[in-house]
Amino acid sequence: MEQSTPPPSPRVIIIGGAITGLTLARCLEKAGIDYVLLEKHSDILTNLGGTLALLPAGCRVLDQLGVFDLLEECRSDLRGLVTALPDGYVYRKETFGLFGPKLGYPLTLLRRRDLLHALYTSLEDMSRIRLGAKVVDIAPRVASEPDGPLCVTTDSGEVYTGDIVVGADGVHGVVREHMWRIAGLQQTPRGKGNQVRTEKGAMTVDYYTILGATPAAESRLTEMIQPGDMHMRCDKGVLLTLIANSDGSVNWFVAFKMDRTRVYPDLPEKLSQEEIRATLEEYAEWKAWDGGADSSDITLGALWRVSPWVSATHLQEGLFDTWSSGRITCIGDTVFKFTPNLAQGANLCIESAAALANALYGMKSSGNATTTAIHEALTLYPKPLQSRIKQLCLISYHTTRVHLLDSSFLWYVARYILPYVMEPWVQYGVFLREHGMAVMLDYLPRPDRDKRAAEERARGWRMWRVVGNTALGMVLGIGAFCSFWLR
Ligand SMILES: Cc1cc2nc3c(=O)[nH]c(=O)nc-3n(C[C@H](O)[C@H](O)[C@H](O)COP(=O)(O)OP(=O)(O)OC[C@H]3O[C@@H](n4cnc5c(N)ncnc54)[C@H](O)[C@@H]3O)c2cc1C
Repeated sequence: MEQSTPPPSPRVIIIGGAITGLTLARCLEKAGIDYVLLEKHSDILTNLGGTLALLPAGCRVLDQLGVFDLLEECRSDLRGLVTALPDGYVYRKETFGLFGPKLGYPLTLLRRRDLLHALYTSLEDMSRIRLGAKVVDIAPRVASEPDGPLCVTTDSGEVYTGDIVVGADGVHGVVREHMWRIAGLQQTPRGKGNQVRTEKGAMTVDYYTILGATPAAESRLTEMIQPGDMHMRCDKGVLLTLIANSDGSVNWFVAFKMDRTRVYPDLPEKLSQEEIRATLEEYAEWKAWDGGADSSDITLGALWRVSPWVSATHLQEGLFDTWSSGRITCIGDTVFKFTPNLAQGANLCIESAAALANALYGMKSSGNATTTAIHEALTLYPKPLQSRIKQLCLISYHTTRVHLLDSSFLWYVARYILPYVMEPWVQYGVFLREHGMAVMLDYLPRPDRDKRAAEERARGWRMWRVVGNTALGMVLGIGAFCSFWLR
């Protein structure tokens, strides 16, 4: 009997092994696509980072990949958001507690390190992950064939050949520059050269954040901030966020507004430990929380002095239009950056990995991995995601400025509008709109949790339709009855 040969699968080189890169690696493993991942650090968990909040859409993709259940022990689901304003007004919203029942997945809080660990350990073949491999160059395998397969060279001189190179190397990565260089060379009338020159200004920095974590033994804080609660203390130009972890430790971030807006590539230098400590000293007496008499003496100084580590990062904001050029494509933080205020960053890193994996799986299934098919797939897959990310960037931009009370008008919005519109906005914006548009993997079964939640939502809408129609019928009936008797 004639043996059928499997369709050609493109070989993918992923650069960067954090949330985006490891998610893509797991997606490709599940799709049976050949790949290798190059990560510059020799320990995959080196990037310690803080705690992040993961939205239901990201959890759903992780569930498809068999990663969500691995997070069971290390996550605490967000229930309440407590916001304190400078005039002493404090309000609590429980909206986030509804995410689980409505969408099948919670808005979950977990350490970035735990997510990396779960993604890494979920991989069946870890030999494809090359650690301590810092990429220094990307070039065509054959110089006379610029559209052909690519060679990626690491700082130790190792060379990897692949059909597609994916930049998942974050905001300071190298792949984006290589992609832009190639895009800049395409000087046809429809080429991307001019677009690349103008779009670089799309990334800006207005804020930086200093972050740390108190040990679990700090019992006064633990009593005040229960796991599952997030506390935000808004002030003019300063925003403190406190998140309690499941083990009783508390992660904190303070965002500060900078003196002026920086535009890519004129981005500020990384803050040194001396600069971080000088800023924290300056704000040492700033009240970290106003939540009650017991907590009134908790200052920022009291938080950071007990924290074993503190670090800082500039908060870039923006979205690049060019995600792909030739055989190179970029996903995750490499092409879009949010402040943490909407909790969309890591979530969209996961979704962008899933969108690319869907496109590559489609290409593999069609058996067509020609240069034209690769160019087409890499050009088309970002389109639906980009228009959604553009809207989310705008919402995140304004939400950040409201939280940091950027002007008298925005102070008014934070004090008198946001507390009242937040719940309906989450109910409509997230439950009805956002979650429905989110990406999941086409080639893996839809998780049971997601199916059950969708059925539940549909039942809810049916009930509302019946109630609405009955109410409308009654109003019309009473109207008709009255107009008949009043004639
Ligand atoms: C303070 C703060 C709070 C946040 N909170 C949230 C939140 O609540 N919810 C949320 O969804 N998101 C949050 N985010 C955003 C989220 O953490 C990021 O969007 C996400 O971690 C980005 O992941 P990434 O894999 O794309 O990039 P990165 O994490 O930057 O990883 C890039 C990887 O590439 C590697 N690399 C770089 N250059 C090379 C090279 N030349 N060769 C090989 N490897 C290379 C790096 O070592 C690294 O491992 C927060 C961010 C910050 C700063």
